[in-house]
Amino acid sequence: MAYIPKQCDVLVIGGGPAGSSIATYLAQDGIDVVVLEKSEFPRNQVGESLIPHFWKFSDLLGVSKKIGQQGFLSKSGGITVWNGQIHQIKFSEYGYNRPGLHIERDIFDQLLLDHSISNGATVFNQVVVKKVDFSDSIWPKVLYTDKRGDSVEEGELRCQYVIDASGHSTFLANQMGTRLAVSSEMNFLSIWGYFVNSRYVGADRKSHHMEELKQNPPVTFVMSYEDGWIWHIVLREKTSVGLIVHTERTKGMNKEQRKIFFKQTCAKVPYLSTLLEPACLVEGSLQYRPDYSYYSSQICGENYYCIGDAAAFVDPIFSHGLQNAFYNAAVTALAVKESLKNNKKRARYSQLCESRMQQFYGFSRALSLGDFGCNGVNRTLVKSLMKSRPRLELELILVTAQMTNRSENFIQLAKEAGIWDDFSASAESGWSGNVSELEF
Ligand SMILES: Cc1cc2nc3c(=O)[nH]c(=O)nc-3n(C[C@H](O)[C@H](O)[C@H](O)COP(=O)(O)OP(=O)(O)OC[C@H]3O[C@@H](n4cnc5c(N)ncnc54)[C@H](O)[C@@H]3O)c2cc1C
Repeated sequence: MAYIPKQCDVLVIGGGPAGSSIATYLAQDGIDVVVLEKSEFPRNQVGESLIPHFWKFSDLLGVSKKIGQQGFLSKSGGITVWNGQIHQIKFSEYGYNRPGLHIERDIFDQLLLDHSISNGATVFNQVVVKKVDFSDSIWPKVLYTDKRGDSVEEGELRCQYVIDASGHSTFLANQMGTRLAVSSEMNFLSIWGYFVNSRYVGADRKSHHMEELKQNPPVTFVMSYEDGWIWHIVLREKTSVGLIVHTERTKGMNKEQRKIFFKQTCAKVPYLSTLLEPACLVEGSLQYRPDYSYYSSQICGENYYCIGDAAAFVDPIFSHGLQNAFYNAAVTALAVKESLKNNKKRARYSQLCESRMQQFYGFSRALSLGDFGCNGVNRTLVKSLMKSRPRLELELILVTAQMTNRSENFIQLAKEAGIWDDFSASAESGWSGNVSELEF
């Protein structure tokens, strides 16, 4: 069994996309980085829709070729049926020459973690971080439980920087008491599961059998319904289906009652029920996430950074989760590299990162929460990000914002930032039509 060192430059908690990405960037620069991951990889994870913005990060990481070779399903865009209206967007119409993907997260996350190892990061699975002791601000101490092998052992390691990439466990935010729930008029939770043999929606707005996946590429299919909204994401051998439900709707339900609720909803919602008619729910695949939207009042300090879902999470309607993870990893890697070169500047870099990352999360919250409220959003920061974002990305985001009724706050911010007029014509583009246009 490999020996866990007593010291390293940077310790990363968690080997998901945020943790593996920052480990790769740092290792590429010759920095001694150790990742402690509590699960045995590959491990299951939800979040299978990737929008094409991610390619710029995979290029930076040097992992695009490996992702291409994996043969994940390409998608050309998305179709929503929202309050009786259909909208469709195609990424290619906004200048993207590479597709979005539907990814099996166990395979995708393992690929990224292996990539960090091949770049020089040291990774240990089944090692759980229990506490970070910051009493020595130059060399914080990380206490962990090593669950590899037959006996469970406690250990400790010193490092100069701690990166919390522990996902929704929000390890440091919990330790420091900085985690806040996004309070809004409507709180949501998620219940999701996997089906075999579902039909899927193609870019031609028709439903298809799984065997046609090669000839008729899929889209991500999203629907609103009386209790919230639903995703249908076809993968190579199964289909991910998730309900985002108002918290009140499932209050007091036990596990079995939630399963019945999930099955009944899938069987009654128009379009979804047709797609799932020939399908079977994979036994034991149902999962539930109650602590849904949250953020952290402070995500960076002089010797720590929280990235990815460890910093914040908001309703995944626009597939922003992985984008946030990749973006945070890239900016934090830069801050840590520079701080290691010049210790006197570390406070400045952490402040810069704090404001950049809060800005990015605020952007996602304003986009996703619509008139359901978006507390914790710094409007000035979001407006300045809108002005500086590449035109191509902003245009696609503004079009997407028209596909649901979730983005009133965001559109208002775009107006206040003085950019709405530039984009409003294209933002109202995309294809819209009556639901009768769907051929199921
Ligand atoms: C219902 C739902 C649907 C979603 N859909 C999408 C989508 O379609 N597209 C999209 O882009 N995003 C989606 N997301 C968000 C996406 O899944 C996350 O944003 C993404 O996984 C974040 O990556 P991460 O590396 O920050 O965290 P994770 O992927 O959660 O990885 C964190 C890792 O840390 C490890 N860990 C935790 N605690 C410790 C500890 N104490 N010690 C050691 N290791 C620890 C965990 O085992 C885990 O492997 C969705 C999320 C939800 C809840």
